[in-house]
Formats: sequence, structure tokens, C-alpha cells
Amino acid sequence: MPTTSSDLSQFKGNLHGQLITSHDGDYEEARTVWNGMIDKRPELIVRCTDKSDVINAVNFARANHLLTAIRGGGHNVAGFGTCDGGMVIDLSPMKDIAVDAASRTARAEAGLTWGEFDKATQVRGLATTGGLVSSTGIAGFTLGGGFGWLVRKHGLTVDNLVSVEMVLADGRSVTASPNENADLFWGVRGGGGNFGIVTSFAFRLHPVGPMVFGGAIFHPAAKAKDLLRFYRGWTQMLPDELSTMVAFLTAQPESFVPKKLVGTPMIAVALCHAGAVEAGEKLVKPLREFAPAAIDLLGPLPYLALQGLFNPSAPKGIHAYWRTQYLRDLDDPTIDALIDRTSAMKSLSPFSAVHIHHWEGAIKRAGADQTAFGHRSARYVLNILGLWTAGKDAGEHITWVRTFSDALQTRSTGQVYLNFLGDEGADRVKAAYDAQTFERLRKLKAKFDPSNFFRLNQNISPAN
Ligand SMILES: Cc1cc2nc3c(=O)[nH]c(=O)nc-3n(C[C@H](O)[C@H](O)[C@H](O)COP(=O)(O)OP(=O)(O)OC[C@H]3O[C@@H](n4cnc5c(N)ncnc54)[C@H](O)[C@@H]3O)c2cc1C
Repeated sequence: MPTTSSDLSQFKGNLHGQLITSHDGDYEEARTVWNGMIDKRPELIVRCTDKSDVINAVNFARANHLLTAIRGGGHNVAGFGTCDGGMVIDLSPMKDIAVDAASRTARAEAGLTWGEFDKATQVRGLATTGGLVSSTGIAGFTLGGGFGWLVRKHGLTVDNLVSVEMVLADGRSVTASPNENADLFWGVRGGGGNFGIVTSFAFRLHPVGPMVFGGAIFHPAAKAKDLLRFYRGWTQMLPDELSTMVAFLTAQPESFVPKKLVGTPMIAVALCHAGAVEAGEKLVKPLREFAPAAIDLLGPLPYLALQGLFNPSAPKGIHAYWRTQYLRDLDDPTIDALIDRTSAMKSLSPFSAVHIHHWEGAIKRAGADQTAFGHRSARYVLNILGLWTAGKDAGEHITWVRTFSDALQTRSTGQVYLNFLGDEGADRVKAAYDAQTFERLRKLKAKFDPSNFFRLNQNISPAN
């Protein structure tokens, strides 16, 4: 332990939340994050219940030179929400949320998941752009950009931020908004957790649901070429209300999957219409007419149900290794490469998947320098998701993901989406931004965190 036991007792005594060490019964659970492959052992885990706990933890960690990880929902695939040795500042107990229906805003503490956030806002028939899996934390997600079912209509999650409350590396508590610390507000909207710890977010909300038209439609993987060609043309004609994605996957033993299809390779289109249910149904008619579906789960459903529909595909503790890139286009050579590389997926792991998300819409319309978010002109995001269960050899899954990603390099823009990056080094972080934005972020880092106290993240080194 780098500190004396009396220092530690004093620190513990000042906390409103819990201090967990390896001697405590809940340590083993407390040290885990979403990705089961991450097996790190922090010295101290501080479960903060309010801003003063966060300030105390930052001051204690800085004074004792502790490597410090910040955790919201713990879903970062690289496991940046934990560390070996050092301190984890865990915000997950901070779950207050106040929804103001009149101003259509919500003030939400950083420990909320999207499931918890949506539940509170949907009571008022409101929502903002959140994740495709509702166990994901609002904090890390928002700071990296954030896309989900409402993105083409309402923009990235950062486009819906009104202000944030933050604790800086020197322990100061500040507000960042268009009127206060405007430079910091620009940086947190896409710059990740580099500048400080956000304790609460104020979001703009929009009328959504409670019923929307959405879900997923499945075809055998043998239809992939025709479906992707159809999807390429169809997505170019869609209004912003419709956000869609394509997934290569293996059919799981779920209640909606006919027994004879379990374990077979499939291709699915999943979507959400952020508007009137009838209009959504009309818009997906061509998709339904493309070919008779193996499984058709499209229909009216509560927005909350749609937000949780894909949770079973990403349970906590699954082992995960990912690669992400923006595709230039879905032209025929790209489609052929995707199909070729996906063919090995099923024999490696029935849980792995390949996702192609259609962007454009409101993402593209926001001004390029309005936020620090990188590449707004991207059309399609490719995510290659290696997912497997404990006890299996990680090597073959990692190799599959890497060779897949390498094979698609010439079909990609060379840029990346920050939130899906693993621990892939400085050049890949740089690839999440254009050169001008990256330099501006480095200067901001030098202003707000010159010693790089917040370095367990997609790190932006301070400008000299
Ligand atoms: C199953 C799954 C589904 C996903 N779906 C989507 C999706 O639909 N759309 C999308 O855009 N992304 C998605 N992601 C990626 C997700 O946005 C990132 O993994 C994000 O980092 C998760 O945030 P978190 O708070 O849960 O993670 P954590 O691991 O807790 O945090 C990640 C990093 O964010 C920073 N951070 C966290 N909290 C704070 C804070 N309060 N203040 C400052 N910095 C902080 C830290 O640097 C931390 O290391 C998904 C990830 C998973 C695992």
C-alpha cells in the first residue's frame, strides 16, 4: 500500500460511499467490468455516492501518486474502468435523475445506465440518443460521442448535451456549458474522459414513443450479398427518423428462434423509427418485401423494450475483443470481403457478431467544429465483435478479429469511432479525430490536466 494506514482511515472516514480493498468480501465482484477478459486487481475501489466523494478520491489519489481509473457503467471493452494497483473511482452508485418535462431536459448523475435513464425519461414520453444495449453506462458512452436508435433523427448523444458538472485533476469542481468553460464543454463532447470526472450531465430530451416501430428481421446468411446490396440502396433513401443496422450473427436458442434455425448463420437488419408507428411500418415495407424472412420481429413495441432487445447478446462477463472502422461504402468488393471474412465466425464462437451501422442524418448536419467529436461524414460504421465464453482460448478469436479488420482496411476510411476502440495505442486514438481537432484537444488537455492524471482512457497527451 503506497499510503500509511492512518491516511487511509482518514480518507475512508471522510467518504459517504464505500471504500473496498482486497480484504473485503465484495472485492471480487467490485473489481469486475463488463468484459470478462479483463482481470485486474486495484488496490482501492472507491464507490462514490456524491460529488464530495469524487473530490476526496481525486485529491487522495493525486497526493499518493495512485494510478487512477474512472468507471461509469464499466462497459469500455479495453477495461479502462479498472486497473492493476492504484484506485478505481467508481461512480455507479450515483444514480439521481431529475426530468423536467417543461424544458425537455434531464439532469442525470454519471452512474446511471441507459436502461435506468430511459425508464425515468419515458415516464414523460421523452428520450435522448442512448445505447443499443441498455446496461451501457451513460458516462463513458456520452463522452465518446454516443449513437443509438435515435441518432439519425436527434444526433449523437454529445449533440444533446446542455452542460456537465465536473471534478478536475486538481480537485476543483466546475460547470462546463456554452456559457461557462466553453472550451472544456467543447472538449468533453467527444474527447472522452481526458479532462476530468463528470459527476452529472444535463441532456436535451425529445418526444419519443412510448410506442415506436422497430425490432429486427432475420434472413439466412446465404442471402447476405443480396440483402447488403438492397440495404445499400435503401439506406440512401431513408428519412432521418429511421436508424438501422445490419448484423451477421449466429441464431441463439431464444424463444423467437425456431428450433431448426438455432446455431445457423444469419444476417439481420435491426431498426427503430423515431416517429409515428404507422409511418415506420410503411417505410420498412420494401425491407419486408426484399425476400420472405426467416424471422420477422418488426412491429410496434415500447421504446423501452427496443432498448433492451439486444441485451441478451451482450451479457456482463462475456469475453470480448473488438475492432472498429468506418467503411467508405457498401460497394460490391466491400460486401464480398465482409461475407468472406464472416464465414469463419460461427465455427469460432456462436456469440461473435459483425455489425454495420448506417449513420449520416443528424450526425452529419451538426457543424464539424461544434463539438470535439471526430468524423461526422462517416456513412457506415463497421464493428467486428469477437465474443466468447470463459475458458476458451482467446488467441483464435483475437486473430479472427484482427485479420478481418486488416482485410477490410482498403475498404475503410482509416478513421475510427472512439467508443468502440480497444487499447490500441496512440495512433488509433488520433485516427478518431481530424488533425485540427486533435491538436485543439491536446492544448485543452495541457490546460486542464497537464500531468495526465486522467490517463487510463483513449488518451490524448497534453501539448508541450
Ligand atoms: C455491450 C455494449 C454495447 C455498446 N453499445 C454502444 C452503442 O450502441 N453506441 C455507442 O456509441 N457505444 C456503444 N458501446 C461502447 C460504449 O459507448 C463504451 O464502451 C463506453 O465507454 C461505455 O461507457 P461506460 O460508462 O459503460 O464505460 P466505463 O468502462 O465505465 O468507462 C469508460 C471510460 O470512460 C471514461 N469515463 C467513464 N465515466 C466517466 C466520468 N463520469 N467522467 C469522466 N470519464 C468517465 C473513462 O475514461 C473510462 O475509462 C457499447 C459497449 C458495450 C460493451
